[in-house]
Amino acid sequence: MDGVERVDHGGRPALIVLIVVDQLPQYLFARYEALFSGGFRRLLRDGRVYTHGSHEHSSTTTAPGHTTIATGVYPLNHGIVANWWREWTGDRWAYVENFEDSTESVLGRPGLPGFSPRKLDATGLADWLVAADRDARIVSISGKYRGAVPLAGRVAAHVYVFDEKYGPGFTTSTFYRPELPGWLRRFNEERLAALLADSVWESTVPESARGASRPDTVAYEHGGAHVAFPHRFVEEANPGDVADAAAFYAWWEDTPMLDEAAVELAMDAVAALQLGQREATDLLALALSATDRVGHAFGPFSREQLDNLLRLDRVLGDLFAFLDRTVGTGDYLVALSSDHGVLPAPEYRQELGEEGGRVTPAQVVEIVKAIDTVSAASETERNARRAAVLEEFDLVADAMTREELLASGPADTLLTLYRRCYRRDRPTGLGDRGVNVRLREGYMTGGNTATHGSPYAYDRRVPIVFMAAGVTAGRSDERVATVDIAPTIARLAGVPFPDNLDGRVLICDGC
Ligand SMILES: [Zn+2]
Repeated sequence: MDGVERVDHGGRPALIVLIVVDQLPQYLFARYEALFSGGFRRLLRDGRVYTHGSHEHSSTTTAPGHTTIATGVYPLNHGIVANWWREWTGDRWAYVENFEDSTESVLGRPGLPGFSPRKLDATGLADWLVAADRDARIVSISGKYRGAVPLAGRVAAHVYVFDEKYGPGFTTSTFYRPELPGWLRRFNEERLAALLADSVWESTVPESARGASRPDTVAYEHGGAHVAFPHRFVEEANPGDVADAAAFYAWWEDTPMLDEAAVELAMDAVAALQLGQREATDLLALALSATDRVGHAFGPFSREQLDNLLRLDRVLGDLFAFLDRTVGTGDYLVALSSDHGVLPAPEYRQELGEEGGRVTPAQVVEIVKAIDTVSAASETERNARRAAVLEEFDLVADAMTREELLASGPADTLLTLYRRCYRRDRPTGLGDRGVNVRLREGYMTGGNTATHGSPYAYDRRVPIVFMAAGVTAGRSDERVATVDIAPTIARLAGVPFPDNLDGRVLICDGC
């Protein structure tokens, strides 16, 4: 025994640790498996590992991905259908950005819109824990509010976000609390300040592991500039921005240091709030954003992403060792997944002989122009004609009308994935024009090296792992979905949950 007095939880976990790595495709997690020696290794060794997990919806982006994991229902039912959508204001379609809430502000930044779960139409794991025991404490930490907010449900949680726009530190929205707790202020002033002093990102990939990624110097990464280690802010910033704090935070949050800070903050939260050390079952949620930022900038197979994942593996190992000491080995449950995968850089696909390419901004304009000239006597007819025009484009694999998306009749798999994200009152993409488009597999829009958002396997397939006392370690190739994560955790924690979820319990006695 380690001498720590522990509350008896009757076999239930004292703490649930929900880790959502932003942009971790199953193909990448599997590729680097043998290189992990920290937290990922422990999850793979001691956890129930699902190798065929996927998001069963088309909108593979951060806000819907995290929300689906937290609620156990499809975007159609939790309402977060995409990272952004439109809402009709009576005379026009207004742009809405997921959890942004202009009736609130960022704490200490009165000019900046805050964030809240007011757009969230479903309860989730955090709500169920608090309903079961109102002393349950909920903490959610991220480099993006669209990751942190949904994991905390609709309760008055501790939700802390780092963003270059917010200044030097993790902060929250006035929705959650009127001032920052002392332990968080201390973290920002001391520990984070030390991490922020580091303006060089060096590779920690051992010589023996380098062959697992692409070579470090690939011209199509990172906008074609500063493609190799070491990455230095002073060299990579625009000359006029070298003394600009926000520019530095923006550079810094694109490195693995962002998640190292998030995990260190999580340990401070566990200590300060005594998470997992009281009667209630608490929730510590980590929406880890650096992997997404590194992936967009350099691509999933880059040396940078390998370094980022090896570093994340190490800090998660530190977190679990810390929880062993504070909460107790076997007294906490860990669930790991990801909000979405990613399409590798199209240039890399081409090198491998696979089809793929970039859709230029000019091509997007051409497509929108083509449908805006189409009119018809009825909206239904107009939408059908627009879909026909869209399908003339080589890049377009399918154009779906509003009517097809709202119908409930038979559908192919891909149309079903789109229907699960479709709400008439929250159109996305070209949806305000009555149509939605699926690009051909391997094609992407936008200026990143790599991106996500499609219904294809590279974007939907993600790891799903549960590690807890009483959960038998091992592998399963059963086809499971991210909607299954929340009910499975709730069942393992002995917490009641709604009976109309889209997901199902994967692990329980006698199921
Ligand atoms: Zn992303």
